[in-house]
Amino acid sequence: MASPSRTDRWIDLDKKYLWHPFTPMRQWSDGTPLVIERAEGNYLIDSEGRRYLDGVSSLWVNVHGHNRPEINQAIREQLDRMAHSTLLGLAHPTAAELAERLVACAPPGLTRVFYSDSGSTAVEIALKLAFQYWQLAGRPGKRRFVHLEHAYHGDTLGAVAVGGIPHFHAVFGPLLIESLAVPTPHPYRHPSGGTPEQVRDQALAALADLLRARGHEIAAFILEPLVQGAAGMLVHPEGYLAGAAALCREHDVLLIADEVATGFGRTGTLFACAQEEVTPDLLCLAKGLTGGYTPLAATLATQRIYDQFLGARPEDRRTFYHGHTFTGHPLGCAAALASLDLFERDRVLEMLPAKIDRLRVALDQLRPHPLVGDIRQRGLMVGIELVADRVTGAPFPAEAATGALVCTAARSSGVLLRPLGDVVVLMPPLSITHDEIDALVGAVTAGLATLP
Ligand SMILES: *Cc1c(COP(=O)(O)O)cnc(C)c1O
Repeated sequence: MASPSRTDRWIDLDKKYLWHPFTPMRQWSDGTPLVIERAEGNYLIDSEGRRYLDGVSSLWVNVHGHNRPEINQAIREQLDRMAHSTLLGLAHPTAAELAERLVACAPPGLTRVFYSDSGSTAVEIALKLAFQYWQLAGRPGKRRFVHLEHAYHGDTLGAVAVGGIPHFHAVFGPLLIESLAVPTPHPYRHPSGGTPEQVRDQALAALADLLRARGHEIAAFILEPLVQGAAGMLVHPEGYLAGAAALCREHDVLLIADEVATGFGRTGTLFACAQEEVTPDLLCLAKGLTGGYTPLAATLATQRIYDQFLGARPEDRRTFYHGHTFTGHPLGCAAALASLDLFERDRVLEMLPAKIDRLRVALDQLRPHPLVGDIRQRGLMVGIELVADRVTGAPFPAEAATGALVCTAARSSGVLLRPLGDVVVLMPPLSITHDEIDALVGAVTAGLATLP
C-alpha cells in the first residue's frame, strides 16, 4: 500500500512545476488531482491503489486495454533492437511493415502513408498536401478550405483554422488561414431542426451551394466522418458522409477524413469511412493507431495525390518539404503493428456489435432522466447531453460546471470520465466487457443522483 506522503509529494511537484493542457491552472492548483500511477486492462490505478474503469480510454486512445503483454512485448523487442532512427534519408523495417498493413486495412485507394506524431500534425500534413497538390496540378487558385461548424481537428494553427469550437479557437482568430464553415448535419445543433434526413439534406444543400459557387477556389473539405467528437459527440445522419464525398468529387474538391477519434473500431468498423463506402483523398489517423500506447500518427493519401509530388529531378519543386524529427518513430510503429495483430487475434470487430448493443440498452435506461436532454451513440462513442430543463432544452449555466460535477461524482463508483462541457462522454476501450458497460452507465446514473 502506498503511503499518502508519496502522493502528496507528487501533487506538490505537479502544482509547483506543471502546466496542464486545456486546464484553468488557478482552479487546478486549488484542487486535489488524482495521480494515476499504474494501469491494467480496462482500469487505471491511482497512487493510493484505488482502481477506476477507464471510461474515456485515456482521452480516446486506448483500444485493447492497458498493459497488454502483446503490445508491451512488441515495444520491448523494438527497444532492444533500436529505439529510434530517422525516416529522413533512411528507411527502417517497422515503419515499412506498418505502412503496408495500414494500406491493406484502410479504405481502398489510399496507397501512401506519411507519418507524424499526433492528430494535429496528421491534419496539418493533410492540409498542406491538399494545398500543394493544387499548386502542382496547375490550379493555384484552389487554396481555401471548408470545414463543418463545431469541427475539431487539433490545436496547431492549421488545425485550429479548420476548427469551429469558439470556446477553444476564438482567441487565435487573427492568426489563422481562411476556412469556410458549412452547417453541421445534426438536428440538436441545427437552428432549423427537423428530422435527421431533413437536416442531412439541408446540410448537403448548403455544401453543394458553396462548392458550386466557390469550388474553383477550394482545395479541400475536411470533416470528422460519422461523429464529431470534441463538438460533443454529434452523430451525423446516415448518408451525409457519402453525400458530401459525392459533392466533393463532382466539384473537384479534395476530401480529408479526420479519423483521429473515429478510427480503429470506435464507431463499430475499423474506420468510419467504411460504413458509407467512402475513400477520402486524405485520411488522418492518430489516437488509437498504437492501441493508445505511444504517440504516432499517419496521413494516408491516394495515388492521385502522391503522383503529383513525383518530379524527374528535385529541382522540379514537387517535393513535400515537411517532416517531424520523430516521424514514424519505431517504438510507435511496433506498438501499432501489435495493436493491429490484436484486432485479429481477439476478433475485436466481431465482438463489437454485442457490446454496442449492450451499451445502447444500458443508455436507454438513462434516456428518460429529467436532466438528460439527448443521448447520442455511434458504436462505442457516446455523448450524454445534460440540460437544466428537458422540455425547453435549456442548458445549465456554464459556471455550474454540471458535466464536470457528474464526472467527478462517478469516481465514487470507480469510473473515470472527462466531459465536454455539459456533455458526459463515454468512450471506453474496445476491450470493455458487458459487465463493465453496465458499470460505466451505472456510474453516470449515480453521478446524476448527486446533483442538487
Ligand atoms: C484529438 C483529435 C485531434 C488532435 O489530435 P492530437 O493528437 O491531440 O493532436 C484531431 N482530430 C480529431 C477528430 C481529434 O479527436
